[in-house]
Amino acid sequence: MTAKYCHKASPLTARAKGGSRKRLLRARILAHPHMRWVVGEGNVSFWDDLWLGDAPLRELSMDDRGGPLVRVADFIMEGKWNEAKLRLIQAQAGLTPQVVRKILDTPIIPDGPDVPRWRLSRNGEFSLATTWETTRTQRPTIQGLDDIWKAGLTSSMAIFIWRHISNRIPVDTKLQWRKMEMASKCQCCPHRPGIESLQHLFIQGSGASAVWREFDSWFGGSSPPLRINDTIPDRLKVWAQRVRRQGRKHLGRAMPYIILWFLWAERNRSRHQSVRFKPFNVVWQVQTFIRNGMTNGTYKPKHWKGVLLKVNIPNQAEPRRSRPLAMAIKWNPPEQPWIKLNTDGAYCEDTDKA
Ligand SMILES: [Zn+2]
Repeated sequence: MTAKYCHKASPLTARAKGGSRKRLLRARILAHPHMRWVVGEGNVSFWDDLWLGDAPLRELSMDDRGGPLVRVADFIMEGKWNEAKLRLIQAQAGLTPQVVRKILDTPIIPDGPDVPRWRLSRNGEFSLATTWETTRTQRPTIQGLDDIWKAGLTSSMAIFIWRHISNRIPVDTKLQWRKMEMASKCQCCPHRPGIESLQHLFIQGSGASAVWREFDSWFGGSSPPLRINDTIPDRLKVWAQRVRRQGRKHLGRAMPYIILWFLWAERNRSRHQSVRFKPFNVVWQVQTFIRNGMTNGTYKPKHWKGVLLKVNIPNQAEPRRSRPLAMAIKWNPPEQPWIKLNTDGAYCEDTDKA
């Protein structure tokens, strides 16, 4: 088969020319997730081919809009990784620093072609038997994507968070990545403005770090500390470990979403109304949102169990009260031109009349 259909090319790279070869290649779609590349000249897809670990970079970047024609070679300069270019793409596409580190540690075969390896067999050679396994593969799920709809958020907040986790928020670096010409200046650092990336605005900038610090102090114990280079999914994960509670509305899980939303609201207020970004505003709004949630019964005592609340628990923060009963009452209207006001809703139970 190899001789007939592939000639000198690897079965992993042979091109379709019609007939049975084309049908065979349809099966290759299933096999694709198990083709690994050892980087040589870098003529493989930067976003879609497997050349770094077990997942294509497109999945690791949480952004499916990287150009399909971008080659690994675009990030290689004179046989070495172009670190500056990788750092740029890291901010723009939301890659983690660990991924970039891993790329930089990936060896490049000097002056040679890329070498395909078949991941499912030990010796790296393609085999049909192992291909069966590919039909079982599933895409990795993103942590938190399930939770947001059940965290007691408003629907605009939940949609914002969903876009956030999928790297769809138009921060400056995102717009630059979308080929918009602009200089970036963050709102959140009054003294030394930085470049506004997701990571900066929501985690590392001085505004965001002040807000996270404040709410971090609501949780005691031996929870894992916040780190300045946490990615956003890291931060959600670490936060969920603050309190070991399963409920999706528990503040241990819901609060980071609320914080992200109000950081974005404050950034927009600051940018569009040309006023200063005030971390205190964000803190206050997060507190108010939580307090309102307590008042209207969205958040119940079990949802703040184990949290060192720094807001007063509102008096009516009891389980939702039963709805007032509505019933029809008759009454006798007075003669014209008199009017009658029943200011206290009084009525006679015997006659059912007001
Ligand atoms: Zn800033």
